[in-house]
Amino acid sequence: MKDSQIKNRIQKLREEISRLRFLYHVEDAPWVTDDVYDSLNKELRLLLEKNPEYIDLNAPENRVGGKPLDKFVKVKHEIRMLSMNDVFSFGEVLDWETRISKLINKKHSYFCELKLDGLSASLIYKDGVFVEGSTRGDGFIGEDVTENLKMIVTVPLKLKAPYPSYLEVRGEVVMPKRILISLNKKQIKEGKQPFANTRNAAAGSLRQLDPNIAKERNLDFFAWDVAQLRITNEELKIKNHSEKHNLLRGLGFQVAPYEKKANSFEEVFSFIEEIEKIRPNLPYGTDGVVVSVDEIELQDVLGVVGKAPRYMVAYKYQAERATTTLKDISVNVGRTGVLTPVAHFNPTLVAGSTVSKATLHNMDQINRLDIRTGDTVVIQKAGDVIPEVVEVLINLRNGKEKKFKMPDTCPVCDFKVEKRSGPEKNINLKSNLAGLEESPMRGEDYSLRGPTSKLASEVVPLKRGMNLASKVLTESVSKSVAFYCTNKNCPARSRRGLQHFVNIFEIYEIGPRILDRLKDEGLVSDGADLFVLEKADLAGLERFGEKSADNIISSIQSHKKISLWRFIYSLGIIHVGEQTARDLADNFGSLNKIMSADIETINKIANIGPVVSQSVFNYFKDKTNLHFIEKLIKNGVSIYHEKAKSLKLSGKIFVLTGTLSALSRNDAKKKIIELGGSVASSVSSNTSYVVAGDKPGSKYNDAKKLGIKVLTENEFLKLI
Ligand SMILES: [Zn+2]
Repeated sequence: MKDSQIKNRIQKLREEISRLRFLYHVEDAPWVTDDVYDSLNKELRLLLEKNPEYIDLNAPENRVGGKPLDKFVKVKHEIRMLSMNDVFSFGEVLDWETRISKLINKKHSYFCELKLDGLSASLIYKDGVFVEGSTRGDGFIGEDVTENLKMIVTVPLKLKAPYPSYLEVRGEVVMPKRILISLNKKQIKEGKQPFANTRNAAAGSLRQLDPNIAKERNLDFFAWDVAQLRITNEELKIKNHSEKHNLLRGLGFQVAPYEKKANSFEEVFSFIEEIEKIRPNLPYGTDGVVVSVDEIELQDVLGVVGKAPRYMVAYKYQAERATTTLKDISVNVGRTGVLTPVAHFNPTLVAGSTVSKATLHNMDQINRLDIRTGDTVVIQKAGDVIPEVVEVLINLRNGKEKKFKMPDTCPVCDFKVEKRSGPEKNINLKSNLAGLEESPMRGEDYSLRGPTSKLASEVVPLKRGMNLASKVLTESVSKSVAFYCTNKNCPARSRRGLQHFVNIFEIYEIGPRILDRLKDEGLVSDGADLFVLEKADLAGLERFGEKSADNIISSIQSHKKISLWRFIYSLGIIHVGEQTARDLADNFGSLNKIMSADIETINKIANIGPVVSQSVFNYFKDKTNLHFIEKLIKNGVSIYHEKAKSLKLSGKIFVLTGTLSALSRNDAKKKIIELGGSVASSVSSNTSYVVAGDKPGSKYNDAKKLGIKVLTENEFLKLI
């Protein structure tokens, strides 16, 4: 980006983040999910890290969120309420450790606890009696919500003895997930806006002038810190953060049950992983784990930088939505000849995988979202649904975005494209609905209270999501326009051709069902598209009990290098079988020479007659075919030529196990070596094939474990 563009982008991001922040904290009505908000903040943070000249201490990102509402009495916090720095990966946790280790040269431990999805509050107790409670506000000044906090049963009004003379407790006001569901049902019935998540519902319920509302809403309180503690004006020293939790429990507070004192990062990471597993089943929303240096003495040494303490980070679980920039829209052709637009964007991490493209399904979808090249888009990848563009952040446009137009000719065969109406496919409908309904409640499972399926159907989507979802539903049913390639023989339509291609490239992990699926999703027009597939593109396959996405992708990547004869064979040239492909490869030695050969030269090759020569010649004169070959090379396919045609097992390593019936083990070995292969005594990741005869031994299991191809005796005999 150019300097002026960076400046512009930073300004746009600040404006949009402020707007969202205002909606979020002041109106308790977020327009986007937290993930999207976080994603924009992350982009801004990275931009500022690279361009520190634009850092502005008065900019909105340097303020702790939450302007106090005028209707509440303001309360000055005696000790500032800080916010936390978020980290999104174990690597970032380790970076944090590196930074703090430079400042503290002392052995220390860590304390891990849940990051509850609620609203922070500060509670003051004098002589064991709850006297004042306030929200965080901007960190310095909050709102007095004492009366509302008194309505929460888990806020002790009187502490258990022995209690200190003065105590300031910090904790989280949360709303149980099941309460949110019934509350949202009620909100809708009364024509009010449903809450997007438990955090907003908790905030919206606590910040009400009528304390009865807080009571009705069944809020809950979890204490997580002691900010001040005095026994007759003397400050009591507590050594560790973990001790504070125990103290709080002793005084009658509810403290989240999951916590861990860790002596190493392995322990920290295993806690984070454990919580990730049980998180969906917890009755409260949690979006991460807070990791702090446990020793208070060292916390003081590390201190506070800006608005966040240096001794603490919040590890946030992976987002299912993220923002990125749409770079381009390409077009794939499906089995029926239908054209599917595919969005390409800057690679972005969503729900654990890097995503750089997503299907846009059809022109209707593009129009509905008003999606343009250059736009900042929200992408979503939930569970085993393939990634999708669900929203465009129109406020971030800079005027240079370009509208997309379907091409007039087929990108594969160049034939005319025709617009037809009629029911197309339902994929967009299904996945849009699924994504939007699940997203605000992501990862939450109500199994504690009843069957998930029943309750999940009652989940109310975001207001934005609701509009879009119902829009998708009605529009997809009433009208759907699709664009088709008019060429009945368009190579993209040929199922057999593509399967042949995959087989010859030895990508055995991809069977016909997976290929159909990839075509239907608009991810693949031709064989060349396979080489740019990403793990995320295959996400949906796993629920079909197919081979894992990892296996498929690694198989594709490991077969990018292909011998010349196989390459020619894979193209599916009419009359060119395996032997002819080998003959062509051996005679010409390179693809370029074959491509530029005239008919006479081809015809001179023994075993190749005039019909075949003509077919080969014609194939390489066809623009579509040349385009396809070019695309293969561009997508990373590389061709090598192995000289002697007899060595068809060259480079292959075999392991034999069990008894073969047609030939002895020694004969099998000889045969393999004759054909250029080699035989090893044990299975390793380098093994090409394990040949399993009758009663195979442990090598068979080893092969399965390592995902090595196992051949039956018959398959082996065919190979030699
Ligand atoms: Zn076509």
